[in-house]
Amino acid sequence: MKTDTVGTDMWCPECRLMTCCKAVSPAELDYLNPRNQRLVSSKDTDLQWFRRGRICQRCNHKFLTCEIQECYLSELLELREANEHMTELLTKADDAQRELLAAFHKLNEALSELQTIG
Ligand SMILES: [Zn+2]
Repeated sequence: MKTDTVGTDMWCPECRLMTCCKAVSPAELDYLNPRNQRLVSSKDTDLQWFRRGRICQRCNHKFLTCEIQECYLSELLELREANEHMTELLTKADDAQRELLAAFHKLNEALSELQTIG
């Protein structure tokens, strides 16, 4: 949505608000390297995107956005969800391993007691 200031209303990562951000060439962002607007992943050549520099008109924060086919964003969201699920599973496996080690330790202690009795 256009506003009376120059730019487009979008999420500013610094303000953490929807606010007016001006589009500029990525070359205007000092930290940016490479400065190209059109990039292709060297590993996954189907991943191609167009970058835009942005300057928040509220806080002057400079950041970078990219345009990419929406299916790749969907893939990212699915992968994040899968990663979250895997992290939960790994945490459960870690907890189970700790419980198993504790039970094994108790079993060893009980066996030692039995050996001293017998
Ligand atoms: Zn801002």
